[in-house]
Amino acid sequence: MLSEKEIMRIFRETQVWQEGHFLLTSGRHSGEYIQCARVLQYPRFTETLCYELAKKFKGEEIDVVAAPAVGGIIIAYEVAKILQTRAIFAERENGKMVFRRGFEIDEDEKVLVVEDVITTGGSVQEVIQAVRAAGGDVRGVGVFVDRSGGKAKFDTRVEALLTVTIKTYSPEECPLCREQIPLVKPGSRKL
Ligand SMILES: [Zn+2]
Repeated sequence: MLSEKEIMRIFRETQVWQEGHFLLTSGRHSGEYIQCARVLQYPRFTETLCYELAKKFKGEEIDVVAAPAVGGIIIAYEVAKILQTRAIFAERENGKMVFRRGFEIDEDEKVLVVEDVITTGGSVQEVIQAVRAAGGDVRGVGVFVDRSGGKAKFDTRVEALLTVTIKTYSPEECPLCREQIPLVKPGSRKL
């Protein structure tokens, strides 16, 4: 079992977790930034994290791992490989999250929903609904990072490798501005 410290080390090393002084798209400032997809560049780390996630659902006898596109696709594949199940993904069609491409869920199949990061939980909730509409039995949700600080709730079990709340500030009240730390846009090469 990886400790939270070891998981954080992977997130820092792959720059999923960044510290500095960030200008968010909302116009607010923050001292931390999370870009979960970055870890997916590294199959070795992805495998390690998915193994941790899969372990949490070992007793559930999952039949299918389902994810929202795009963030969850690689995670669904990797978790399914470990649990020796199928992996499918849902995607938006006319604004609605649906299973296309011949992906099907049989009546009462046990489904694990995975995603890289939960912010409000919106797309995960939509996948849960799509699974149920197909007759599947949602046994839980597994994510790398819950950045809602545990506030995003689902009527099923949720397991996150890391649960965080990112503090944000208006420019006027930002302590990092007061310390005159250079402000950067996330993903900027200046980091
Ligand atoms: Zn600031």
